[in-house]
Amino acid sequence: MLLEGRVIIVTGAALGLGRTYARRLASEGAKLTLADVADLAKTTSLCETEGAEVLPLRVDVSSEEDTLAMARQTHERFGRIDGLLNNAGITTRHGLEAKSLMDVDMGMWDRVFAVNTRGTFLGIRAVYPYMREQGSGTIVNVSSGSTLRISRAPDAINAQYVASKSAITGITRAVARELGQYNINVVTVAPGSTTSDTEEALSADEAYPEPEASLLRRGVPDDLAGVMAFLFTDDARFISGQMILVNGGREVW
Ligand code: NAD
Repeated sequence: MLLEGRVIIVTGAALGLGRTYARRLASEGAKLTLADVADLAKTTSLCETEGAEVLPLRVDVSSEEDTLAMARQTHERFGRIDGLLNNAGITTRHGLEAKSLMDVDMGMWDRVFAVNTRGTFLGIRAVYPYMREQGSGTIVNVSSGSTLRISRAPDAINAQYVASKSAITGITRAVARELGQYNINVVTVAPGSTTSDTEEALSADEAYPEPEASLLRRGVPDDLAGVMAFLFTDDARFISGQMILVNGGREVW
């Protein structure tokens, strides 16, 4: 197992990609804190079936009180924090719709930034003291391929989402430079378009076609989960400040 004994926090673990990431990290031997505003029962049960120790927590990542409690309770339970997967985000599942410039609701704009961008930053601030104290740690932030290439499709016109996810690349770069001296590496993963809204994650054989991707299909959660697991291993510890695209060759960087 790649992650035997590692302690990793996964935000946004209740549904979608976060659930698949958590299950994969569990299968690789990690101990997990699962953080979400939504019900974590199903993810918890899947991870426990993989043999993992799990701490499910109700956490709104846009609240500093919540993120500080998330880190503190993780440390109290497991004695260390090796990794943070900053995956929680506001997506179409939360009513985030494509809107043209004049139709963007500024309340929604603020909420998207509060969760996607501020939430990512607050997660880092919460785990940093523990990682610094133990002299190691890995933080993976989640951006999006949509920050690199805006399609003309009507559902791609989504300035608030693209802007919030572009900011994550900047946070990774700046924080990686600051925290590297404490042996903490910080990485961005930018998933391409990945089908994540089915109750059971699709397999690669079930993926939808995507003519604009080199591999001619959309992503499925397992396309990303192994990359996430790798990034929390020692083999990936010299990757920092970078953005890794996992998109079947759709946007290229
Ligand atoms: P999703 O909407 O299915 O899952 C997002 C998760 O975040 C949910 O469990 C939700 O409850 C949680 N969440 C929302 N607000 C929260 C808050 N304030 N505090 C804590 N948790 C909160 O989305 P997904 O498709 O699984 O995407 C996961 C991440 O990957 C998101 O950051 C998304 O932007 C990013 N992403 C997804 C795709 C894709 O095609 N699916 C592509 C690029 C990037």
